[in-house]
Amino acid sequence: MKGVACTASADHLNTLAAYRKGESDLLYRDGMWFLIATCDLPDVPVRTPDGFTGVDLGIANVATATSTGAATGGGVRYSGKALNAVRHRHRELRRRLQAKKTKSAKRLLKKRRRKEARFAADINHTIARRIVTEAARTGQGIALEDLQGIRDRVRLRKPQRVTLHSWSFHQLGRFIACKAARAGVAVLHVDPAHTSQACSACGHIDKNNRPDQARFACTSCGFAEHADVNAARNIASRGVTSWAVSHAA
Ligand SMILES: [Zn+2]
Repeated sequence: MKGVACTASADHLNTLAAYRKGESDLLYRDGMWFLIATCDLPDVPVRTPDGFTGVDLGIANVATATSTGAATGGGVRYSGKALNAVRHRHRELRRRLQAKKTKSAKRLLKKRRRKEARFAADINHTIARRIVTEAARTGQGIALEDLQGIRDRVRLRKPQRVTLHSWSFHQLGRFIACKAARAGVAVLHVDPAHTSQACSACGHIDKNNRPDQARFACTSCGFAEHADVNAARNIASRGVTSWAVSHAA
């Protein structure tokens, strides 16, 4: 087939026009047609970062980003509220369909799963794009937590734990790394130990620094901040240290 009409975001259409490689696959799924094209993008050299943006991943806020240059009170939070509501609705529907066990219920179940995955990927793409665009604009690098430890670090009630496990933090990390590479933005993975309990102002580590899930209040110096913003500040400064260590002359 040739000359198949298709549409995409302006960004994707530009990429497609400039870097399309080989043949594309036409795929029919859940009543929609998708064109899967391969694009071969040139390498963009990584710029030396002027400071770092730290990204904290969580549940109430899917991602919180703040930069080393930001004043106290800064930080952009990407709320997980709408997302978690949709996920909850999907879970209820899935439970009902699973109980039915008919062929059509199974088919519908598969369709719902894919729909939910697309929804989550869409949110992840949006968050990743915003974080990378801002880092590129300000000339900063991006520091992410090394995700190996995230499930051990977060101790939560069971329903939240389910949300966390099914939420794809790895995908968000991958999307950020991929978009950053295209923009020449440096990405570092830092040690996640105590990022939520350490004071980003004085370094004091204490679990009592967290009076509740949302707040951070240092028992040593009195520094107070939204807990996720404090964690993102710690991640940002670890990015600075880690870059300095690995690029020391
Ligand atoms: Zn402190």
